[in-house]
Amino acid sequence: MTTPVYDVIIIGSGPAGLGAAFQLSEHSPALSILMIDRERICSGGLLNDCKQNYTYPIGFAADNWTRAEAERLLPLVERQLQPIIKDKHNLEVYRRRAERLGVTLLDIRQAHVGTDRSRILIQRLLDELDMRGVQFLLEQEVIDVFDDSNGTGAVIKNGQTLQARKVIVAPGRKGFHFLQRVMEKMGITYIDNVVDVGIRIETRLANYPIVKDYYDPKFQFPEGVRTFCTNSGHARVVLERYQGFSLVNGHALSEAQAGNNLVNFALLKTIGLKAPVRSGQQMAVFLATLANEIGGGKPLMQRVGDFRMGKRSTAETFNEDLYDFPPSCPVTAGDLGLAVPAKIMRHIWAALKKLDTIVPGVLHPSTIMYYPEIKMYANKPVFLDRYFRVSTNVYMAGDGAGTSRGITGAWASGIRAAEGILQGS
Ligand SMILES: Cc1cc2nc3c(=O)[nH]c(=O)nc-3n(C[C@H](O)[C@H](O)[C@H](O)COP(=O)(O)OP(=O)(O)OC[C@H]3O[C@@H](n4cnc5c(N)ncnc54)[C@H](O)[C@@H]3O)c2cc1C
Repeated sequence: MTTPVYDVIIIGSGPAGLGAAFQLSEHSPALSILMIDRERICSGGLLNDCKQNYTYPIGFAADNWTRAEAERLLPLVERQLQPIIKDKHNLEVYRRRAERLGVTLLDIRQAHVGTDRSRILIQRLLDELDMRGVQFLLEQEVIDVFDDSNGTGAVIKNGQTLQARKVIVAPGRKGFHFLQRVMEKMGITYIDNVVDVGIRIETRLANYPIVKDYYDPKFQFPEGVRTFCTNSGHARVVLERYQGFSLVNGHALSEAQAGNNLVNFALLKTIGLKAPVRSGQQMAVFLATLANEIGGGKPLMQRVGDFRMGKRSTAETFNEDLYDFPPSCPVTAGDLGLAVPAKIMRHIWAALKKLDTIVPGVLHPSTIMYYPEIKMYANKPVFLDRYFRVSTNVYMAGDGAGTSRGITGAWASGIRAAEGILQGS
């Protein structure tokens, strides 16, 4: 029996992979396309919370995109995801307050699906691709990609080798070790110089009422600090598990669900590393490992009231008196000051104080700060063309390859890689 040679293999069924599959199957229905994912359902932000931002630059990596390029593709993303764009209110009030403090409030077109409904959206997308003849190989991990004298293709963990004319590699952030291994083996030069480090805030909805006016308000503070991924209604802080450590993140259920009246969001500081530091990824791992070490194998949480007094939070007092709501993600009560580098903490705290002037109440003593929330975007390959091609027949796209930082940007990146294949680049 001869093994088939697919026209295109797509590794990863997250938004980058889906964007590529939709574009390819729409413009060239005869192509044989195989999508491979190590999970049964894609594991990134399309599944978790699924907030979609339809305004540049949110979700796009600026060094790979121009506004015009993003704005050309965002309507195509919108056509497939069919978002219900949320209304915003009172923006001018918040904007005026922000501007007085040197803070920018971006006006972003947003939609929110919620973790309880995202599976329905994903299923609709997969069914549509299935109808177009796209094939799926799920719960199978790819361990290698090749593009050499033996041909082009991917190797699955069970030892099976799959051949293709073209391969799109889109394994997301969790695929960073895999991607790095592939790039090193294929001799693809990459840089890894940016990392976002920050904390996740959790507070009562009453302390951050702006979310009723603007679901995920995007504030940009001085010193490279920004708000990121705000969740409200029925919102929870969650753990993201990696080898050897956990990070925090957040999500919310759809508006149809009863609320727990909590809100959470991240305050992240972007750090651009310069020589001699070699790797943003490594820095992230060191910081996360330190925090998890101090937390006895878990992230840390501290009440703002304790932080202000310069004392650690403790398990015994974490829920007493003024600290009037239990954490949605009970990790280790402790002292962020021991784990967060001083410069990062200083800039984040300065941003929080400004935010408390724009939206008074967010620095209530009960507000919880969780750490670490770290975004590892690294492993940016040196692309051979504007279609994210890295070798004759292989393309790398999405968050793992540093071309995006969110669902819509990842989807648009997948479209760009597909355009390269369709144009025969
Ligand atoms: C908890 C959480 C919540 C988030 N919430 C949002 C949000 O609300 N809005 C937003 O815009 N962004 C959100 N994000 C970020 C968002 O997930 C990413 O920006 C986006 O999903 C990137 O798309 P991608 O296709 O590049 O990667 P992913 O969506 O991560 O998809 C990559 C896929 O590749 C698969 N894979 C990885 N390695 C292999 C391998 N070796 N073999 C086979 N398959 C592999 C993975 O299982 C995964 O399904 C969130 C992220 C997390 C972790």
